[in-house]
Amino acid sequence: MTINAAKQLTRGQWLHNKTLKQNRGKDCFRVRVNGQPQTWKTRPDEVRVPVKWGYYNTGQLRQYDLAGWELEANCPNENQPCDLVS
Ligand SMILES: [Zn+2]
Repeated sequence: MTINAAKQLTRGQWLHNKTLKQNRGKDCFRVRVNGQPQTWKTRPDEVRVPVKWGYYNTGQLRQYDLAGWELEANCPNENQPCDLVS
């Protein structure tokens, strides 16, 4: 995800991690945007995106984290043929 995409995130959007998995490897590890991304006019290449996951975990994605994450709609893993379905 680019920094410009990150700056336009809104609360409630899901973000998928491109490599981490959950549910025994079936799904991407995902977090939910938990508020307005924080930006600074004087520091245009920085952003902080508040996120939450699980029941009570919260954190922030920073500009250097963004390469590992993608919007759910753009997730590279979602349209792969799935050989885990039994
Ligand atoms: Zn995904």
